[in-house]
Amino acid sequence: MKIALFPGSFDPITKGHEDIVKRAIPLFDKIIVAIGQNSSKIYHFTSEKRKAFISDTFKNFPTVEVKEYSGLTVDFCKKENAQYILRGLRNPSDFEFEKSIAQMNRAMVPEIETVLILTAPEYSAISSTIVRDILKNGGNARQFVPEAILL
Ligand code: ADP
Repeated sequence: MKIALFPGSFDPITKGHEDIVKRAIPLFDKIIVAIGQNSSKIYHFTSEKRKAFISDTFKNFPTVEVKEYSGLTVDFCKKENAQYILRGLRNPSDFEFEKSIAQMNRAMVPEIETVLILTAPEYSAISSTIVRDILKNGGNARQFVPEAILL
């Protein structure tokens, strides 16, 4: 069984994340969207909210699950028997960042392969950071997040 873990903060999930997961569905038997909990990070949405947004987004996709984790992503992969880490790439700075994480993860656990999917051009400008800024300033961010979620 091919299991991929898609780790991130998802604060909140955006149309960019949704697109990466949907395009990865045919590649894997199961995709675990893994919400990382970093105790030194302050989140805009509670973990319950972030989890509910993701569950609502993929409610019609039975091979997609949502879980929370803390600690190293590779340790959570081992716990969940995931052989793949899924990540999205928007631009050269994502590439540089993802390259170092993937190479360091591979040095720690060579059996886990990172799979990078390029963003669809229409979503390449979308980031959770900008969505949060819009919300903090009272704007409407609906066009940037999955249809299923109401912010
Ligand atoms: P992190 O806090 O780990 O960066 P994010 O929730 O911001 O987590 O992102 C998780 C993954 O989704 C990362 O690989 C990121 O590059 C990717 N991603 C974020 N936004 C987009 C987008 N608009 N299109 C494609 N991939 C994206």
